[in-house]
Amino acid sequence: MNSPIANAHPTATESTNAPFDLVVIGGGSGGVASARRAAAHGAKVALIEKDRLGGTCVIRGCVPKKLMMYAAKFGRELAEAAPYGWTVDNAQFSLATWQANKRVEIDRLEGIYNRMLENSAVVVYRGNASIRDGRTVMVDDVTEIHAKRILIATGARANRHAVPGIEQAMTSDDLLDLSVLPKRLGVLGAGYIALEFASIMQGLGSEVTVFYRDQLPLRGFDRGMRAKLADALVAQGVCLMPGSAMRSVEKQDHATVVFAGDTAFEFDAVLNATGRSPNVHGLGLEALGVALASDGAIAVNEWSETSVPNVYAVGDVTNRMALTPVAIAEGRALVDNLFTGTQRTVNHASVATATFTMPPLSTVGLTEEAAAEQYGALRIYETEFRPMKVAFAGGTSKTAIKVIVDDASDRVLGVHMLGDDSPEIIQALAVAVTMGATKADLDRTIAVHPTTAEELVLLREVSRRVTRA
Ligand code: NDP
Repeated sequence: MNSPIANAHPTATESTNAPFDLVVIGGGSGGVASARRAAAHGAKVALIEKDRLGGTCVIRGCVPKKLMMYAAKFGRELAEAAPYGWTVDNAQFSLATWQANKRVEIDRLEGIYNRMLENSAVVVYRGNASIRDGRTVMVDDVTEIHAKRILIATGARANRHAVPGIEQAMTSDDLLDLSVLPKRLGVLGAGYIALEFASIMQGLGSEVTVFYRDQLPLRGFDRGMRAKLADALVAQGVCLMPGSAMRSVEKQDHATVVFAGDTAFEFDAVLNATGRSPNVHGLGLEALGVALASDGAIAVNEWSETSVPNVYAVGDVTNRMALTPVAIAEGRALVDNLFTGTQRTVNHASVATATFTMPPLSTVGLTEEAAAEQYGALRIYETEFRPMKVAFAGGTSKTAIKVIVDDASDRVLGVHMLGDDSPEIIQALAVAVTMGATKADLDRTIAVHPTTAEELVLLREVSRRVTRA
């Protein structure tokens, strides 16, 4: 174990006869939030975690990824500083320094998670959980925990089946723990993880090539914005290989080789970013009769109930939206319902999200394609411009904004933004979109000048009209 066990822990042979009101399996974002909220409602709660508290997001995902993105962004900003009068000679990046400081920060955050659970009187067990029956969970096959309800929040892990030999490739976990930057990095896939690391690693000095089977990266996002992101990545220096038929991955001497189409591409490291699979193995779900969806995720209804009474699941182990804040919202809604009698569900329709590429692509609401299918007629407002900071420095990178409006009701259905600070801007705008803001609401909002975000309230001309075919 990487950190001290914070909370009271029965000995290995002890059985907790007085049942817990809730046992949570998994100490990531969803599990910890659910356990603490349930304890705040007065429930007696246990949480089982086999690794570090904080889960994927804190230990090997969102947090260290964003710290790495900041490292890459400093490099770009140093280069942009000269026209502003700064001389930055011999600027160099030390991965070792970043790694050391990252470890300290992750340890600090894990400590906070430990203390939060301790202060909430959640009893933490360390080990592998397996469900023996609807009211009993074993830890490492030794400690028996009795509970009235079981919540599974075990998250997901990198797929290792997309291409023969892909186990030779690194995962994002490995990339975050690198001690040497690969000179040439190959990336398989073009989802969130692939693009974020492609952009970060290129920013830190690697030469990055991204292989993907579609014509555009980031399937599921607005098509026009995907094209703009692809252009931005190419402008950053990333080599994109759309329509790639990835055949296999092989280790050869010191290189990792990607066979795509008829060509072999040699890299110092390859990132497998071909999606993630739910962590369901070893939990005893089959014997218990918990139904799985076709993709292997735990099937749940809108109340996060599985097919077995009193057994629930939230977060990436289900097949809803694999996003940290969504897992937290699902978990809190569930335990509020269980322990206070509310009847809350999570609205997955207006969840804002961002890919932390350079520049980031951020979005809330519907894509143009989805809006066109669901609504009769749309007004599309688009703008693309060089922000003041970039123009002054002689840069070429553009910020792009797209607002999709239902023509009949004037309601804003979706907002998409590619540009620096877009995740911060979209987060704030998501409140308005969730509340049902109309285009007229945006129009009567006075701008903050000079900002990039002001363009969102200054869009007057309709760029295009779209009607359902
Ligand atoms: P994604 O589902 O986003 O992307 C997977 C990629 O792998 C796609 O490009 C997909 O291609 C490709 N792929 C899948 N199977 C194959 C195959 N057999 N052969 C070739 N290519 C394949 O997964 P990620 O792992 O990037 O991210 C997992 C989840 O984590 C995301 O969905 C997101 O919810 C979350 N996440 C969120 C972040 C954020 O909020 N910033 C950051 C990182 C992760 P195709 O499109 O053709 O299917």
